[in-house]
This record gives sequence, structure tokens and C-alpha cells, in this order.
Amino acid sequence: PVSDALVFFGATGDLAFKQIFPALQAMIKRGHLDLPIIGIGRSALSKEQFIARARDSIEQHSQLDASAFSQLSAHLQYLSGDYQDDATYQQLKTLLGDAAHPLHYLAIPPEMFENVIKGLAHSGCAKNSRVIVEKPFGRDLASAQALNQVLLQAFPAADIYRIDHYLAKEPVQNLLYFRFANSFLEPLWNRSHIAHVQITMAESFGVQGRGSFYESVGAMRDVIQNHLLQVAALLAMEPPASHHDDAIRDAKLRAFQAMQPLSPAQVVRGQFRGYREEPGVAAESSIETFAALRLNIDNARWAGVPFYIRAGKQMPLTASEIMVTLKKPRQAVFDTTGAGQENYFRFRIGPDALISMGARVKLAGEAMAGEPVELLAQRHPGDEMTPYERLFGDAIQGDAALFARYDSIEAAWRTVMPVLGNCVPLEIYEAHSWGPAAADRLMAADGGWHNPQLTKDSHGGN
Ligand code: NAP
Repeated sequence: PVSDALVFFGATGDLAFKQIFPALQAMIKRGHLDLPIIGIGRSALSKEQFIARARDSIEQHSQLDASAFSQLSAHLQYLSGDYQDDATYQQLKTLLGDAAHPLHYLAIPPEMFENVIKGLAHSGCAKNSRVIVEKPFGRDLASAQALNQVLLQAFPAADIYRIDHYLAKEPVQNLLYFRFANSFLEPLWNRSHIAHVQITMAESFGVQGRGSFYESVGAMRDVIQNHLLQVAALLAMEPPASHHDDAIRDAKLRAFQAMQPLSPAQVVRGQFRGYREEPGVAAESSIETFAALRLNIDNARWAGVPFYIRAGKQMPLTASEIMVTLKKPRQAVFDTTGAGQENYFRFRIGPDALISMGARVKLAGEAMAGEPVELLAQRHPGDEMTPYERLFGDAIQGDAALFARYDSIEAAWRTVMPVLGNCVPLEIYEAHSWGPAAADRLMAADGGWHNPQLTKDSHGGN
């Protein structure tokens, strides 16, 4: 069934302000949203104050559209209550009225998940409903398992939607499409032809005032265990049996299961100089703002092909890019001494969307000498849906394809578990550099990292 009410826990929070209200207005503009929206937070706001907050959010992070905003305001209601108080859920039940299939969205601090899920179950609000849980899904294997148990006691597995907004990004969906809609890729996409794969997620900024939040995660938990391992799985997976969501998620799961648990020798952790002076950060903090790793995927397709993954803050620029480097030609007919491995596929996921193929072509002249060129397909962000628009729309319709299934989340935790915490020493790196020197050593045998570069027409965020 299509959901007939949206209950928005955390409606007064940071994520709501930066991303969710703009997404809701955009959905209305496209005609994708027409249901009551009940915001719930602790702050004592009147409905008018709540609507004013929604307006500020859209003005600061998007653009107000008078007609869409007036429709949005007509849908908004606000309930002030503590998530630890049963009365909150009784009031919610009353507000839900005759909504038969509510969609509950939990954009709340992780330590509140259990309270809210149980509150929804005990009050009857969970009946015939769906739930979307924000990241992070646990902070290690045991807490992910525990959260999943709490969810399964309140909701059937098929009604639980775990957000990994990265999966809803157009260029990330395109990884799956490009791989399996083209015939030229599959013969090359394996250990016989691919030397290594690199995934880089670079941010030119630091923790942007969210130091106390970041202290509880670090790069490994914040973006690698979820977003970047999901990307690795999309690159590594076998062809799915069909395009249906569970067929895709089954194929992805097998890729996750082939990822070998990391050992400390395969990981580098860094922290940018100055992080410890950020508000909310401990003076002796050992949280990593940079991590790089060499992942092995032990199956027939990938054995021996390293997947290098790195993510960092205070890098020279903001961009996410994948580089799939092919092996050199087996027989060196032409002298390419000094040339790098110039056959590759490059996928940029942000700020813009780009797919390119690297090749060598002959230079004009008598010598059989060439130069590297790129065959390029590029698209600048246009009027496409943002991840949250797409994800809410899908959840309202009951389509879980772009949400992370629990088994893959659990497999991803198993991969990173041995290197969480402080078992890998932390190295300080300079702001606006590409991270600690140890990260370069990790990659040295394979020719060094590919650092994304932006041209003047690349806009937007990661
Ligand atoms: P936040 O700014 O701390 O907001 C927390 C929200 O929960 C507020 O609406 C707060 O209400 C409410 N809340 C907390 N404890 C409550 C209680 N006992 N009773 C009632 N309401 C309570 O957090 P956030 O940054 O928006 O993050 C929310 C979730 O989204 C987290 O799971 C986070 O990991 C995830 N997320 C955040 C971002 C981001 O950029 N912020 C990005 C991706 C994912 P009051 O403010 O009214 O007290």
C-alpha cells in the first residue's frame, strides 16, 4: 500500500533543516507528495513556529517556491514531546487519525532509536506502517545486530528501510546501469584485465561545527563502512538475476560476503592538524578524519585485484571518484616506456557525474608514438532528484531497492570490525593535503593514488 502519512521524528534537528525540508518542498513541486506530515521534536514549538522553521530551512538550503511551500505548510503539523515518554506516542496516535499506513522517518540521535521503535510498537502506531531509519546503522557488528533485533520486533523485515543516501545518488545508480547495460565492459571486468580499483571520497572542509558528532564516528564509520563499501559492492558484484530489488541486493550481498575482513596492515588512519582544536573535539582525540585501506575481494572474479579505498576531510578539493585501472597490454608492440597505466575507466560521483575511458592514441608524425586521451561522458547536475526526494518517494510507494538490506550492512561491519578503534596508529596530516604519507606507501606498489581534479565547470557537493 501507498503510505498515507509521514511521521518525522527529529524534525527540529540539523539534518531536517539542511536537507529534509528542501526535499519535501521539491517533492511537492514535482507532484510526488500529498499526505499529512507530522513533525515530532522535543522543542516546544507552535505549528506556526514549526512552519517558520521549515521556511528558513528552505530559504537557506534551497529556494522557496511560494505555491509549493504553501501546499507543504498545509500538510505540516507539529507534536512536541519527549521520545522517552509514552504520552508522546499516544498523542501521535490521535494525530494520525484515520491514516492506515503511516511512514515513520527516524532522523534522530542513534541512542534514541530503540526508545522510538518500542514507543511506536507499544502504542500501536507501528501497525501496518513502514519505518525509515537514518544512518548510522549501529557502530559495530554487535550494536547493528541489536538494533536490527529491536526493529524486527516492531516491524516486518519488508517494512524496514535503512537509509544509505549514497545509493540514491544518480551517478551511483549509474554504476550498476553502466556495468550491466553495456556489452563491452563485462569481458574486461575481472582479474585478467583489471590491475586495481580505487575509490576516493575527498572533502575540502573539516567537521563544520559537528565535532562532537564526529568524535563518535570517524571516517571509517561515517563513510567507509556504509557509502564506500556499498560503492565497492556495486563495482564488484556479479550480474544480478534480474533488475528487481532483491535480485540486485542478493548479488550485492555476495560481493560483500567475499570482502575479506581488514587487518591493521591494510589500513592507514590520519587526522588533520587542527582537528583537536575544533569545538566539541577532545584535546587528545584519536578519531580519524582520514582513512585509506586496501581491500581484498576473494572470489573468482577479483582474487588478487586490490580495491583501494580512502576518505578524508580537509583534502585539497571536494570530489568523489572511482578509478578502475586496466593492466598494460600483454605484448608491448610499441614502446610506451615511462607511460603510466593509461587504460582505465573513471567514474566521478560528485560534484558532477562523469564517466571516462582512458586510452592512448598516436601522435601525428613518423614515429609510432602516442599520448593519453580520455573518451568522456559528463553530465552536470540538472533538475534531477536529490537522494532524499528519491528515497522518500520510494518508501512511500513501498520500493526498497535503493535502501540497504540488513544482511549487507552486517557483512560490511564484519569487513571493518578488526580495524575499528585505535589498533591502527593515527598519523597527523596537514590540512589541504592528500593525507598522511603512509597512505601513499599503501598504494605505492600499484603506482600511487589517482587524485581527482576538478575543472571550472564542476559544481556542487559530494
Ligand atoms: P540533531 O540535530 O541532534 O537532531 C536530533 C533531533 O532529535 C532533534 O529534532 C531533537 O529535538 C530530537 N530529539 C533528540 N532527543 C529527543 C528526545 N529525547 N525527545 C524528543 N526529541 C528528541 O541530529 P541530526 O544531525 O539532525 O541527525 C539526526 C540523524 O540523522 C542521526 O541519526 C544522524 O546520524 C543522521 N544524519 C545526520 C546528518 C546531518 O548532516 N546532520 C547527515 C546524515 C545522517 P530537539 O532539537 O527539539 O531537542
